[in-house]
Amino acid sequence: MRDAVTAYVGVGANLGDPRSAVAAALDALAGLPDTQLVARSSLYRTAPVDAGGPDYVNAVAALRTGLTAPQLLDALQALEQRAGRQRPWRHAPRTLDLDLLLYGSGRIDSPALSVPHPRMHERAFVLVPLQEIAPALVPPDALAAVTSQVIARLP
Ligand code: AMP
Repeated sequence: MRDAVTAYVGVGANLGDPRSAVAAALDALAGLPDTQLVARSSLYRTAPVDAGGPDYVNAVAALRTGLTAPQLLDALQALEQRAGRQRPWRHAPRTLDLDLLLYGSGRIDSPALSVPHPRMHERAFVLVPLQEIAPALVPPDALAAVTSQVIARLP
């Protein structure tokens, strides 16, 4: 794999069987072309942020990938579609949500893609699993700022 980059992907689901959906998504990430899954966090149960509906199951994956960031976003959206995701309204419950959190040290600000993900530092469901697999990437003050958000590691 030439010019591989370490990318972090946030995985979430809150419809159907979210635990299975997240586990299947982690396996699907491992199967992306030119990509290796190098770490996966535990699964976490979290209350929805800015929305109602059932609790989410969340996790974060670290990938080593030769895909470009737009190629990786396309691949993530294809996996969302395969999981039957519909977008009836913003913040609607979802069978699978995949966010590209970090792409190496890359900074991207295009209409389709913002990296680092603009809201990742406000979300315990990103920071807590990310800290588990890449503690150096999560500043302690960022984690301290989200302690009011309920998050529980699943056994
Ligand atoms: P959502 O409904 O929260 O999954 O948002 C999906 C939309 O966000 C898509 O249209 C993407 O093009 C856009 N987007 C921008 N930046 C990112 C990112 N870092 N990861 C995933 N989607 C992104």
